[in-house]
Amino acid sequence: MLLKDKVAVITGGAGRNGLGYATAKMMAAQGARVAILDLAGAEPAAAAADLGPGHIGVVANVTDKAACEAAAVEVLTRLGRIDILFNNAGITQPRKTLDISAADYDAVMDVSLRGMLYMSQAVIPAMRAQKSGSIINTSSVSAQRGGGILGGPHYSAAKAGMLGLGRAMAREFGIDGIRVNAVTPGLIATDINKGLIPEDRMKGILEQIPLNRIGEPNDVAGCVVFLASDLAKYLTGVTLDVNGGMLI
Ligand code: NAD
Repeated sequence: MLLKDKVAVITGGAGRNGLGYATAKMMAAQGARVAILDLAGAEPAAAAADLGPGHIGVVANVTDKAACEAAAVEVLTRLGRIDILFNNAGITQPRKTLDISAADYDAVMDVSLRGMLYMSQAVIPAMRAQKSGSIINTSSVSAQRGGGILGGPHYSAAKAGMLGLGRAMAREFGIDGIRVNAVTPGLIATDINKGLIPEDRMKGILEQIPLNRIGEPNDVAGCVVFLASDLAKYLTGVTLDVNGGMLI
Protein backbone atom coordinates (compact mmCIF):
# COMPACT_ATOMS: atom_id res chain seq x y z
CA MET A 1 0.00 0.00 0.00
CA LEU A 2 1.73 3.16 -1.19
CA LEU A 3 -0.53 5.62 0.66
CA LYS A 4 -1.47 3.83 3.86
CA ASP A 5 -2.74 6.24 6.57
CA LYS A 6 -2.51 9.24 4.20
CA VAL A 7 -5.33 11.73 3.63
CA ALA A 8 -5.66 13.12 0.13
CA VAL A 9 -7.64 16.13 -1.08
CA ILE A 10 -8.53 16.04 -4.77
CA THR A 11 -10.08 19.08 -6.45
CA GLY A 12 -12.32 18.51 -9.45
CA GLY A 13 -12.55 14.88 -8.43
CA ALA A 14 -16.23 14.07 -8.79
CA GLY A 15 -16.58 13.39 -12.53
CA ARG A 16 -16.54 9.59 -12.86
CA ASN A 17 -14.75 9.80 -16.22
CA GLY A 18 -12.20 12.39 -15.11
CA LEU A 19 -8.56 12.37 -14.04
CA GLY A 20 -9.49 13.40 -10.50
CA TYR A 21 -11.86 10.51 -9.86
CA ALA A 22 -9.49 7.96 -11.44
CA THR A 23 -6.80 9.25 -9.09
CA ALA A 24 -9.17 9.15 -6.12
CA LYS A 25 -9.94 5.50 -6.87
CA MET A 26 -6.27 4.59 -7.22
CA MET A 27 -5.33 6.48 -4.06
CA ALA A 28 -8.13 4.75 -2.13
CA ALA A 29 -6.88 1.37 -3.41
CA GLN A 30 -3.44 2.32 -2.09
CA GLY A 31 -4.81 2.90 1.41
CA ALA A 32 -5.53 6.65 1.40
CA ARG A 33 -8.66 8.27 2.74
CA VAL A 34 -9.82 10.70 0.09
CA ALA A 35 -11.69 14.00 0.22
CA ILE A 36 -13.22 14.75 -3.16
CA LEU A 37 -13.75 18.49 -3.66
CA ASP A 38 -15.94 19.72 -6.46
CA LEU A 39 -18.74 22.09 -7.39
CA ALA A 40 -22.16 21.37 -5.87
CA GLY A 41 -23.59 20.27 -9.20
CA ALA A 42 -20.89 17.64 -9.57
CA GLU A 43 -22.10 15.97 -6.35
CA PRO A 44 -18.78 15.20 -4.66
CA ALA A 45 -20.46 13.38 -1.74
CA ALA A 46 -21.94 10.82 -4.14
CA ALA A 47 -18.56 10.37 -5.81
CA ALA A 48 -16.89 9.83 -2.43
CA ALA A 49 -19.59 7.33 -1.42
CA ASP A 50 -18.85 5.37 -4.60
CA LEU A 51 -15.26 5.00 -3.44
CA GLY A 52 -16.44 3.16 -0.33
CA PRO A 53 -16.53 3.96 3.38
CA GLY A 54 -14.07 6.42 4.95
CA HIS A 55 -13.97 8.89 2.08
CA ILE A 56 -15.76 12.23 2.02
CA GLY A 57 -17.14 14.69 -0.50
CA VAL A 58 -16.80 18.42 0.04
CA VAL A 59 -18.52 21.11 -2.00
CA ALA A 60 -16.13 23.93 -2.86
CA ASN A 61 -15.59 26.31 -5.73
CA VAL A 62 -11.81 26.64 -5.92
CA THR A 63 -12.05 30.20 -7.27
CA ASP A 64 -13.48 31.28 -3.89
CA LYS A 65 -10.75 31.73 -1.24
CA ALA A 66 -13.16 31.48 1.71
CA ALA A 67 -14.65 28.28 0.27
CA CYS A 68 -11.16 26.76 -0.07
CA GLU A 69 -10.35 27.63 3.53
CA ALA A 70 -13.66 26.20 4.74
CA ALA A 71 -13.04 23.03 2.71
CA ALA A 72 -9.62 22.54 4.30
CA VAL A 73 -11.13 23.01 7.77
CA GLU A 74 -13.85 20.48 6.94
CA VAL A 75 -11.30 17.89 5.77
CA LEU A 76 -9.13 18.42 8.84
CA THR A 77 -12.16 18.12 11.11
CA ARG A 78 -13.55 14.99 9.47
CA LEU A 79 -10.36 13.16 8.42
CA GLY A 80 -7.85 14.57 10.91
CA ARG A 81 -4.97 15.56 8.63
CA ILE A 82 -4.04 16.43 5.03
CA ASP A 83 -1.01 14.73 3.45
CA ILE A 84 -1.73 15.12 -0.24
CA LEU A 85 -3.32 17.91 -2.28
CA PHE A 86 -4.07 17.19 -5.93
CA ASN A 87 -4.90 20.52 -7.60
CA ASN A 88 -6.80 19.09 -10.54
CA ALA A 89 -9.90 21.26 -11.12
CA GLY A 90 -9.80 22.94 -14.50
CA ILE A 91 -11.90 24.11 -17.40
CA THR A 92 -11.01 24.68 -21.01
CA GLN A 93 -12.39 26.71 -23.89
CA PRO A 94 -11.50 26.28 -27.55
CA ARG A 95 -10.62 29.85 -28.61
CA LYS A 96 -8.24 31.79 -30.85
CA THR A 97 -6.25 34.59 -29.25
CA LEU A 98 -8.28 37.40 -30.80
CA ASP A 99 -11.54 35.82 -29.63
CA ILE A 100 -10.70 35.57 -25.91
CA SER A 101 -12.99 37.88 -23.94
CA ALA A 102 -12.18 39.28 -20.51
CA ALA A 103 -14.73 36.90 -19.02
CA ASP A 104 -13.20 33.91 -20.87
CA TYR A 105 -9.75 34.84 -19.59
CA ASP A 106 -10.93 35.19 -16.00
CA ALA A 107 -12.91 31.95 -16.04
CA VAL A 108 -10.06 29.81 -17.32
CA MET A 109 -7.32 31.48 -15.25
CA ASP A 110 -9.41 31.44 -12.10
CA VAL A 111 -10.19 27.73 -11.96
CA SER A 112 -6.70 26.41 -12.77
CA LEU A 113 -4.32 29.04 -11.43
CA ARG A 114 -6.18 30.99 -8.76
CA GLY A 115 -7.74 27.72 -7.55
CA MET A 116 -4.30 26.15 -7.20
CA LEU A 117 -3.08 29.11 -5.16
CA TYR A 118 -6.12 29.26 -2.88
CA MET A 119 -6.24 25.50 -2.19
CA SER A 120 -2.49 25.39 -1.56
CA GLN A 121 -2.75 28.35 0.84
CA ALA A 122 -5.58 26.55 2.63
CA VAL A 123 -3.74 23.25 3.23
CA ILE A 124 -0.08 24.29 3.61
CA PRO A 125 -0.35 25.42 7.26
CA ALA A 126 -1.48 21.91 8.25
CA MET A 127 1.25 20.29 6.13
CA ARG A 128 3.81 22.64 7.60
CA ALA A 129 2.75 21.79 11.14
CA GLN A 130 3.18 18.06 10.46
CA LYS A 131 6.43 18.73 8.51
CA SER A 132 5.30 16.75 5.49
CA GLY A 133 3.06 17.04 2.46
CA SER A 134 2.84 16.37 -1.24
CA ILE A 135 1.13 18.75 -3.63
CA ILE A 136 0.57 17.68 -7.23
CA ASN A 137 -0.77 20.08 -9.86
CA THR A 138 -2.49 19.17 -13.12
CA SER A 139 -0.93 21.37 -15.76
CA SER A 140 -1.12 20.32 -19.43
CA VAL A 141 0.94 19.62 -22.52
CA SER A 142 -0.73 22.83 -23.75
CA ALA A 143 1.58 24.75 -21.40
CA GLN A 144 4.63 23.24 -23.07
CA ARG A 145 3.53 23.26 -26.71
CA GLY A 146 2.27 26.81 -26.56
CA GLY A 147 -1.13 25.71 -27.67
CA GLY A 148 -3.31 22.78 -26.96
CA ILE A 149 -5.00 20.42 -29.30
CA LEU A 150 -8.26 21.65 -27.82
CA GLY A 151 -7.72 24.43 -25.28
CA GLY A 152 -7.23 28.08 -26.15
CA PRO A 153 -4.14 30.25 -25.54
CA HIS A 154 -5.54 31.44 -22.21
CA TYR A 155 -5.73 27.76 -21.16
CA SER A 156 -2.06 27.31 -22.16
CA ALA A 157 -1.22 30.40 -20.10
CA ALA A 158 -3.11 29.19 -17.03
CA LYS A 159 -1.47 25.77 -17.22
CA ALA A 160 2.01 27.31 -17.75
CA GLY A 161 1.33 29.55 -14.77
CA MET A 162 0.68 26.45 -12.68
CA LEU A 163 4.19 25.17 -13.50
CA GLY A 164 5.77 28.47 -12.43
CA LEU A 165 3.71 28.77 -9.27
CA GLY A 166 4.41 25.13 -8.43
CA ARG A 167 8.17 25.46 -8.83
CA ALA A 168 8.19 28.60 -6.67
CA MET A 169 6.21 26.76 -4.00
CA ALA A 170 8.60 23.79 -4.25
CA ARG A 171 11.49 26.13 -3.47
CA GLU A 172 9.67 27.90 -0.67
CA PHE A 173 8.27 24.89 1.19
CA GLY A 174 10.96 22.22 0.72
CA ILE A 175 12.35 23.26 4.09
CA ASP A 176 8.98 22.34 5.62
CA GLY A 177 9.02 18.83 4.15
CA ILE A 178 6.44 19.76 1.51
CA ARG A 179 7.05 18.56 -2.06
CA VAL A 180 5.35 20.23 -5.02
CA ASN A 181 5.28 18.54 -8.43
CA ALA A 182 3.21 18.62 -11.61
CA VAL A 183 1.81 16.38 -14.28
CA THR A 184 1.33 17.63 -17.83
CA PRO A 185 -1.20 15.30 -19.44
CA GLY A 186 -1.42 15.10 -23.19
CA LEU A 187 -4.75 14.20 -24.74
CA ILE A 188 -6.70 12.06 -22.28
CA ALA A 189 -10.22 10.76 -22.93
CA THR A 190 -12.41 12.54 -20.35
CA ASP A 191 -15.55 14.68 -20.32
CA ILE A 192 -13.52 17.88 -20.77
CA ASN A 193 -12.85 17.06 -24.42
CA LYS A 194 -15.85 14.85 -25.19
CA GLY A 195 -17.28 15.74 -28.59
CA LEU A 196 -14.58 18.33 -29.25
CA ILE A 197 -12.38 16.15 -31.48
CA PRO A 198 -13.80 15.81 -34.98
CA GLU A 199 -13.32 12.29 -36.44
CA ASP A 200 -11.33 13.68 -39.36
CA ARG A 201 -8.74 15.20 -36.96
CA MET A 202 -8.11 11.99 -35.04
CA LYS A 203 -5.63 10.48 -37.53
CA GLY A 204 -3.54 13.67 -37.49
CA ILE A 205 -3.63 13.79 -33.69
CA LEU A 206 -2.51 10.16 -33.35
CA GLU A 207 0.40 10.85 -35.71
CA GLN A 208 1.71 13.28 -33.06
CA ILE A 209 1.61 10.61 -30.32
CA PRO A 210 4.41 8.00 -30.56
CA LEU A 211 2.49 5.55 -28.35
CA ASN A 212 -0.29 5.86 -30.93
CA ARG A 213 -3.29 6.17 -28.64
CA ILE A 214 -5.24 8.73 -26.67
CA GLY A 215 -4.45 8.53 -22.95
CA GLU A 216 -6.75 7.04 -20.30
CA PRO A 217 -7.42 8.67 -16.92
CA ASN A 218 -5.49 5.87 -15.18
CA ASP A 219 -2.37 6.77 -17.19
CA VAL A 220 -2.35 10.08 -15.33
CA ALA A 221 -3.59 8.69 -12.01
CA GLY A 222 -0.63 6.28 -11.77
CA CYS A 223 1.83 9.16 -12.11
CA VAL A 224 -0.02 11.24 -9.52
CA VAL A 225 -0.05 8.35 -7.05
CA PHE A 226 3.69 7.92 -7.60
CA LEU A 227 4.35 11.62 -6.97
CA ALA A 228 2.14 11.55 -3.88
CA SER A 229 3.92 8.53 -2.42
CA ASP A 230 7.21 8.09 -0.61
CA LEU A 231 8.61 6.46 -3.75
CA ALA A 232 9.01 10.07 -4.95
CA LYS A 233 10.26 11.44 -1.63
CA TYR A 234 13.34 13.11 -3.20
CA LEU A 235 11.35 14.68 -6.06
CA THR A 236 10.20 18.26 -5.90
CA GLY A 237 9.66 20.87 -8.58
CA VAL A 238 9.46 18.23 -11.32
CA THR A 239 6.99 17.83 -14.15
CA LEU A 240 5.95 14.40 -15.42
CA ASP A 241 4.93 14.56 -19.08
CA VAL A 242 2.09 12.05 -19.30
CA ASN A 243 1.53 12.41 -23.02
CA GLY A 244 2.46 9.22 -24.87
CA GLY A 245 5.64 10.83 -26.16
CA MET A 246 4.02 13.87 -27.78
CA LEU A 247 7.00 16.14 -27.04
CA ILE A 248 9.83 13.86 -28.17
P1 NAD B 1 -13.25 16.98 -16.14
O1 NAD B 1 -14.07 18.03 -16.78
O2 NAD B 1 -13.83 15.62 -15.93
O3 NAD B 1 -12.69 17.46 -14.73
C1 NAD B 1 -12.68 18.79 -14.28
C2 NAD B 1 -13.34 18.83 -12.92
O4 NAD B 1 -13.13 20.13 -12.36
C3 NAD B 1 -14.85 18.59 -12.97
O5 NAD B 1 -15.20 17.60 -12.01
C4 NAD B 1 -15.43 19.96 -12.62
O6 NAD B 1 -16.68 19.89 -11.94
C5 NAD B 1 -14.34 20.51 -11.72
N1 NAD B 1 -14.39 21.97 -11.60
C6 NAD B 1 -14.56 22.89 -12.61
N2 NAD B 1 -14.58 24.13 -12.10
C7 NAD B 1 -14.41 24.01 -10.76
C8 NAD B 1 -14.35 24.94 -9.69
N3 NAD B 1 -14.46 26.25 -9.91
N4 NAD B 1 -14.19 24.46 -8.43
C9 NAD B 1 -14.07 23.13 -8.20
N5 NAD B 1 -14.12 22.21 -9.18
C10 NAD B 1 -14.29 22.64 -10.43
O7 NAD B 1 -11.95 16.86 -17.07
P2 NAD B 1 -10.52 16.21 -16.82
O8 NAD B 1 -9.98 15.96 -18.16
O9 NAD B 1 -10.58 15.10 -15.83
O10 NAD B 1 -9.72 17.45 -16.22
C11 NAD B 1 -8.96 17.40 -15.05
C12 NAD B 1 -7.79 18.33 -15.19
O11 NAD B 1 -6.91 17.83 -16.18
C13 NAD B 1 -8.14 19.75 -15.62
O12 NAD B 1 -7.35 20.66 -14.90
C14 NAD B 1 -7.74 19.76 -17.08
O13 NAD B 1 -7.44 21.06 -17.53
C15 NAD B 1 -6.53 18.87 -17.06
N6 NAD B 1 -6.11 18.28 -18.32
C16 NAD B 1 -6.92 17.45 -19.00
C17 NAD B 1 -6.49 16.91 -20.19
C18 NAD B 1 -7.35 15.98 -21.00
O14 NAD B 1 -7.01 15.70 -22.17
N7 NAD B 1 -8.44 15.47 -20.47
C19 NAD B 1 -5.21 17.20 -20.67
C20 NAD B 1 -4.39 18.06 -19.94
C21 NAD B 1 -4.85 18.58 -18.75
